[in-house]
Amino acid sequence: MSRSIEGIGMTSRRTRERMITRLRQQGISNQDVLAVMTETPRHIFVDEALASRAYEDIALPIGHNQTISQPYIVAKMTELLLEKNRPHKVLEIGTGCGYQTAILAQLVDQVYSVERIAPLMKKARDVLWQLNLKTVGFKHSDGSWGWPEQAPFDGILAAAAPQEIPQALLEQLAIGGVMVIPVGNEAGQLLHRITRTQYGFEDEVIEPVLFVPFLSGVSR
Ligand code: SAH
Repeated sequence: MSRSIEGIGMTSRRTRERMITRLRQQGISNQDVLAVMTETPRHIFVDEALASRAYEDIALPIGHNQTISQPYIVAKMTELLLEKNRPHKVLEIGTGCGYQTAILAQLVDQVYSVERIAPLMKKARDVLWQLNLKTVGFKHSDGSWGWPEQAPFDGILAAAAPQEIPQALLEQLAIGGVMVIPVGNEAGQLLHRITRTQYGFEDEVIEPVLFVPFLSGVSR
């Protein structure tokens, strides 16, 4: 990859700092999340032709009919995941281009990321390697199954919306663990935070969101 991590002009640190100012205005307050997003070059996760738009608060295409989540939603989900207790071991469903993965990798000890589209997973793995983020395990699989060999997780974050939360994900959440997940269909989705307690699951509805659908099966 020839592109510079450093960035210039529309991909520079200055541009990233303006993105952080906007995130604060939108209500993001977790200092660790904001610090990591200030340092992480988002432009290297998207196509070179789109790099100059990488710091706008929009979702951008990453190929295969998928999109990189907008900065606000990445920040919001990460903040919700970290708010109660800092998780050590996090399962991510829907690696996509790996930007959310990179943010998580700098905030928790170990990330396990599952993606159903093989080329996206491979590209994300290369970019994270280039950024020297090596505490991430990748798996090409249908995220409905979670990652049973590594369970339980004290955090689970899903970047695609199922109509109902897959049972396996609930089972793989540790007691005290938190799952942040959009649920719904094209007609409407809501972001949920599920907390597993000794007695069952607490469900908080956070806000309306718009994610790509959670699809079953894998694609090569
Ligand atoms: N946070 C990612 C979001 C990518 S879009 C980013 O910013 O790039 C959501 C991703 O979820 C897509 O890459 C899609 O292929 C993946 N996905 C959808 N359903 C899935 C499933 N059942 N298992 C694993 N990945 C899934």
